[in-house]
Amino acid sequence: MAIQNLKATVNSSSSSIRANSIKHVRDENLKTLLSKKKLHLVLDLDNTILESSIFEDLTKYDRDYIQRSVGVKMIEEKKLYQWVCEGKGYKVRLSVFPDVYLTKLRPYVKTFLKEASKLFDKSIFTLGNLAYTTKMLELLDPERLYINSQVITREYVPLSTPWRKGHDLLKSHERVVLVVDDAKDVWEANTKNLIDIAPYGFFDDESSDKKSWTRKWEDESDKYGELARVLRELKKIHKEFYNLEEGEDYESRDVRDAIEEVKRKFSLQGTKQGMISQHAKETTSEIDECFKSMDLNCRRNRLNRIQTSHDVM
Ligand SMILES: [Mg+2]
Repeated sequence: MAIQNLKATVNSSSSSIRANSIKHVRDENLKTLLSKKKLHLVLDLDNTILESSIFEDLTKYDRDYIQRSVGVKMIEEKKLYQWVCEGKGYKVRLSVFPDVYLTKLRPYVKTFLKEASKLFDKSIFTLGNLAYTTKMLELLDPERLYINSQVITREYVPLSTPWRKGHDLLKSHERVVLVVDDAKDVWEANTKNLIDIAPYGFFDDESSDKKSWTRKWEDESDKYGELARVLRELKKIHKEFYNLEEGEDYESRDVRDAIEEVKRKFSLQGTKQGMISQHAKETTSEIDECFKSMDLNCRRNRLNRIQTSHDVM
């Protein structure tokens, strides 16, 4: 898969040509996404869908864990990958020997990638370097069936302290981009596109109070883990985005509104369940009616707001 980026466009000498070119790329991409009823999902790698460590950096506890039967079995069953970095690793090392890495894929990640492909074009956006990312893609999606859009690595990210990720390198308009990244602060300009996910910490980390999965002698659940939960949320957001109201077209749709709408419905549902559990059964239908009307009013208000913002433009 070609490593796609907008750097050539970004480096164009004329800012107006540059802006027009980026807009053209994003407009074309939007047409393609809408025709396939898809959105653009951007995934981080480390601590979001996997975790890697250089063997030398493992704690004494984890070195012992890896050498015990549980670790050996995980490597044999390809749940834990041990590999040697041929190129420059993601850390600058003084050693003359190539680094041995261990990579643990987050449970459910392969199902996540496959299922999400039905609704999303998918990109990787990582601050890891190209050599490391290429290896991770081999482990995650060797035939490149699911990660079908951009692969953006550290080499393409403008230098800054601290490092930042941003929508400017993406080939889609912000209104169709969803981001799943355990580090929210690196996306400070695009927080409304972010979906919360708890970091995945398989390896022992002595600087953290949180127990690693190796310390717990277990692993995150497939069915009830973070990736399964995030996939359910993404499906709801996708449905909300493509669920047009009467008189609406896709021009008025924005994934950031869909995220808010899904959150609002979830909180409304929680409040309703709470009220039903506190009141007699005979009042349940009244509560139901009340919430239906509240929901309808909220949707009307949202439509009015969209209509008004378009009138202003
Ligand atoms: Mg991360």
